[in-house]
Amino acid sequence: MQGFEEQRRLVVEGLRSLGYIRSEKTARALLRVPREAFLPPQLREYAYYDTPLPIGYGQTISAIHMVAIMTDELDPEPGDKVLEVGTGSGYQAAVLAEIVARSDPGRKGHVYSVERIPELAEYARTRLREAGYGDDVTVVVGDGTLGLPGEAPFNRVIVTAATPAVPPPLIDQLADGGRLVAPVGDRFSQRLVIVEKKGGSITKRYGMECVFVPLIGRYGWHPDSE
Ligand code: SAM
Repeated sequence: MQGFEEQRRLVVEGLRSLGYIRSEKTARALLRVPREAFLPPQLREYAYYDTPLPIGYGQTISAIHMVAIMTDELDPEPGDKVLEVGTGSGYQAAVLAEIVARSDPGRKGHVYSVERIPELAEYARTRLREAGYGDDVTVVVGDGTLGLPGEAPFNRVIVTAATPAVPPPLIDQLADGGRLVAPVGDRFSQRLVIVEKKGGSITKRYGMECVFVPLIGRYGWHPDSE
C-alpha cells in the first residue's frame, strides 16, 4: 500500500477528475492537510477512504468529497475570518485554515470553530495543534447555532451538521459580501444551502443533496432527537 501522501494525492486527483473539486485552492488545501492526523489512531489506515468515519461521541469526520464540495461552495479567500459550526475532528477547519491563513503570507485570516461536545473540542484542539494549525484555528465550546457574537462579523460561515433551517444568528453575523453554507433539511436528508449577503439583502441558492449528523441547539434540533 502507498504512503499517506501518495494516497492523498490519488484521492485529490480522483475527486478532481470526477468534478467534486472545482477550484485550485481547494485542491491545494486538500493536498496539504493530513486527514490521518484528525482520526483516532485505530482508523488512520482508512484516512483516504472517501467516506465519513467515526470520531467518537456518535459523531463523524465528513467524507473527503463533502469537505471538497463545501469548501468550494464557501469559496473562502486568503485573509478571511471564518466561522465553522461543528468542529468535530478539526479536519474541515484545517482545510479552511490552509486557504484563509496559510496560502498568502500577506493576508492572515483565522478560523473560529464551535463544538457543542467539550471532549470533541479538546480532541480537535489537540489534533489541530499537532498538525500545525494551532495558531490558525480557535476552537470554542458552545451552541454554534448562536454563532459567536463577540467575534462577528464573519466573511464566511460554514455549518457542518444538519439543520432544519439556517440559524438566524448566523445570517446576522455574516459580513456584507459574506457567504454561508449549511446542510438544510430533515434529520435524514438535506441539501446544501448557500446564502449570500450583499448590500443588506440576502440571496439563497441550493447545492447538492447530503446527509449530516444533526445540529443540536437553540436554532437546530432538540437534544432528544440525537
Ligand atoms: N467538520 C467536522 C470535521 O471536519 O470533522 C465534521 C462535523 S460532524 C459531521 C458535526 C459536528 O457538529 C459534531 O461534532 C457535533 O457534535 C457538532 N454539533 C452538533 N450540534 C452543534 C451545535 N449546536 N454547536 C456546535 N457543534 C455542534
